[in-house]
Amino acid sequence: MAGVKAFRASILHCLADPGSDASSNTVEYFADGILIVADGVVSEVGPAAALLPSISGDIELTDFAGKLIIPGMIDCHVHYPQIDIIASYGEQLLDWLSKYAFPIEAKFSDLAYASEVANFFADALLRNGTTTALVFSTVHPQSVDAMFSAAKQRNMRLLTGKVLMDRNCPEGLQDSAETAYRESRELIERWHGDGRLGYAITPRFAVTSTEAQLASMGKLANEFPDVHIHTHLAENRAEGDLVAAQFPWSRSYLDVYKRYGLVRERSMFAHCLHLDQEDRRTMAELNGSIAFCPTSNLFLGSGLFDLRSAEEAGIRVGVGTDVGGGTSLSMLTTLSEGYKVLHLQEQSLPPFKALYLATLGAAKALYLDDKIGNFAAGKEADFVVLDSMSAPMTARRLSRTDDVSEKFFALLMMGDDRAVSATYLMGEPVYLAGRASGDAPTGVPIKTL
Ligand SMILES: [Zn+2]
Repeated sequence: MAGVKAFRASILHCLADPGSDASSNTVEYFADGILIVADGVVSEVGPAAALLPSISGDIELTDFAGKLIIPGMIDCHVHYPQIDIIASYGEQLLDWLSKYAFPIEAKFSDLAYASEVANFFADALLRNGTTTALVFSTVHPQSVDAMFSAAKQRNMRLLTGKVLMDRNCPEGLQDSAETAYRESRELIERWHGDGRLGYAITPRFAVTSTEAQLASMGKLANEFPDVHIHTHLAENRAEGDLVAAQFPWSRSYLDVYKRYGLVRERSMFAHCLHLDQEDRRTMAELNGSIAFCPTSNLFLGSGLFDLRSAEEAGIRVGVGTDVGGGTSLSMLTTLSEGYKVLHLQEQSLPPFKALYLATLGAAKALYLDDKIGNFAAGKEADFVVLDSMSAPMTARRLSRTDDVSEKFFALLMMGDDRAVSATYLMGEPVYLAGRASGDAPTGVPIKTL
């Protein structure tokens, strides 16, 4: 049947937030499952015993025996221009920005340079099983063109936007309230809603924007209610002190964004380490979301994210790698560090909750859960094939587990891009371990490769 494909493997996905219940019925697991995709969207998922008889002989069936299919993972906060300064030594946030981030970002005035990095970055996401990301570009509109072009070429669902900075940064990276508005608007008109692409209004953080620029972004956000807003909030103590000095009228850091209408549905705030209860109430009331970025928070010595308080306040939370402040593009590695960050605060991150934060929970935090996040019928068929046998230590550890929860937890703790065997976007293979992307012609069963 044209456009219909079936995939056989163990299949695991979330139906809702599992919370702290490790044996939750909010996840669905099929030890021997079938995922049926029709014209790029999920048509059905279930046990092989029930679905195999309904699959006619002319439907292409790809057998991933011994592997695990989960929904494509979602990175809620990452900077593609910083891919080449990942793992830069020794500084906390503000000095790290000046010493490493700003100099590399200046190079993105060159479209050819930006395109090379954007293409590498898009492939790196897919190699790590990340199928959707909310991405910082740089102040240069061409950096946004490069990222959107790379995503479009691969049919990725991706959100990005031009960074806005009109003070406290090098001259070559500065725009103004007026150019920020005009260039962002042009980019929205050029890219927003083109296939799977979406625009994000992206003030870097309150420190680098004047009130005039924040006001112009609030105006733009008001004119385009369905675009995203993406920024940083309360990452570092020294940063918070600067914001308090620059905006003396503000009750808190969040209050600055709130005043300019930048806290709403589809606004994503990275970090949020230093919030108080009133901030959390405000964030929940105004429907803003948080990206928990554990590897970055540890690497830059920023602090520990309080997931329990955010969730008790009713805030939507996803997880971000925050490369290059973060140290890995792997969501598995990031969740593993998230587990440890929460453990230090006597909080827990059960394995299915971790899966939720990287898939359905992230989709909800980005207000994209009508399109991605699990295998509900009608959703876009973005998925990852995980192979627990890909690294000797992981294979040995997992061979000693029976229970799916225990197995998935060990895979999270030990896994990285080596655990990703294949990545699919809308039912099409875009990454196959050991092969360059694009090697597998559409329609050829991977089992024969
Ligand atoms: Zn960041």
